[in-house]
Amino acid sequence: MIASGLAGSYARGYFIEKFYHHIFSSDVFIQQIIKELGLLEKLEWRTASIGYYIDDKIHRLNTPLEILRFEQLSFFDKVLLAKAVLSARQLKDPFVFDDVPATRWVIEKTNRSVYENFFEPLFKGKFGEYKNISAAWLLSRIKLRSNRTLKGERIGYLRGGFQQLVDKMAEKIESRGCEVRRGCEVKRLVIGNNKVEGVETTEGFLASDNVIITTPSLSKALSIDRIRYQCTICALFGMERSLMEDVYWLNIKADVPFGAIIEHTNLIPRADYGENLFYVVSYLQESDQIWKKSDKEIVDLYLEGIAKLFPNFHREDVKWWELARGRFTAPVYELGYKNKILPYSSHIEGLYLAGMFSSPNYPERSMNGSIRAGFECAREVTKMVGISCY
Ligand SMILES: Cc1cc2nc3c(=O)[nH]c(=O)nc-3n(C[C@H](O)[C@H](O)[C@H](O)COP(=O)(O)OP(=O)(O)OC[C@H]3O[C@@H](n4cnc5c(N)ncnc54)[C@H](O)[C@@H]3O)c2cc1C
Repeated sequence: MIASGLAGSYARGYFIEKFYHHIFSSDVFIQQIIKELGLLEKLEWRTASIGYYIDDKIHRLNTPLEILRFEQLSFFDKVLLAKAVLSARQLKDPFVFDDVPATRWVIEKTNRSVYENFFEPLFKGKFGEYKNISAAWLLSRIKLRSNRTLKGERIGYLRGGFQQLVDKMAEKIESRGCEVRRGCEVKRLVIGNNKVEGVETTEGFLASDNVIITTPSLSKALSIDRIRYQCTICALFGMERSLMEDVYWLNIKADVPFGAIIEHTNLIPRADYGENLFYVVSYLQESDQIWKKSDKEIVDLYLEGIAKLFPNFHREDVKWWELARGRFTAPVYELGYKNKILPYSSHIEGLYLAGMFSSPNYPERSMNGSIRAGFECAREVTKMVGISCY
């Protein structure tokens, strides 16, 4: 059973991801798959321009000079920040910090000003109101994000959209004689005497000795998944003009109901789409009020927020919008997360797990992590059942 999932796209005469997507140079597994599927010439590496909205102003934070000019941190704060980043990069094993709160690590290594003016808004943008985020997550993230030039970080995008990767993967699977069922929902896993018997689906019962669960909704239903997940709301807007001039990614510290704005057409040329595209995103919990609102109500709140940040923005500038929501969009990398990671084999015979909850998706869930988990799990299944098919 396959659908594009979180990496899925809207088809608007062109493909554009429902949730913004790019890859990092450290995502080597997905790059290998992109190559094998003949899509390498579409993978482009571009410098992502990063901004930070604080105290009523966008601060660009890409070049050493821009960082030196950032007045919310004193020179001393910047020295402390640079030292903390360097020490994180030099760490051999960030995962030993699994039980240390990220907040504590930052304040101990720097000071409260660096925490409040730099890290806290990033944590809020990423984890909403969660406080107990593990330092192992933060340190591993800093280590991973190393593809920087003096102009900023280089990130990769598949020109024409990641939908092409999803389609090519499905094509390849089918070309090997396997069946891909789109839009077919698994209602229930059927287990007898601690052994998998098959799955109950909207298209009837499918008998099977081996099943791989790839989605938290099913692993949770079996109570083998103790991970907490975040919800995400992500709106995409189409406009005739640019919202943020040259900024691709804007982190925000302001009284608005979202944590970041990502202007896709400030990474990939507008000419590919014939219009400007930007995302507005909130990470949250189901209990948050905004989660309960209708799509239209959320978009109205977002538009109000954008107008607060950009006085030249008028809602009439927006030609169209789409809104995507996901219930299981990222694990909360909280204290002790390492012990919650699910192994590929389960205690139920014939039942395997490979997805956001697997080890390749720590310290950050990604397309790379889920593809890698899928391959590693498949290898484990073939070993268990004694076949060697790839
Ligand atoms: C806002 C946002 C931005 C992101 N940005 C990036 C990025 O820049 N780079 C990156 O690499 N990753 C990014 N990700 C993460 C990335 O999209 C995911 O980590 C990855 O796609 C997860 O893939 P998956 O197959 O494990 O899970 P999912 O994408 O969640 O796929 C699960 C699939 O299972 C299906 N399913 C669920 N329940 C059932 C059922 N009962 N029966 C049948 N099918 C079912 C779903 O429809 C879905 O197709 C982002 C995610 C979000 C939310």
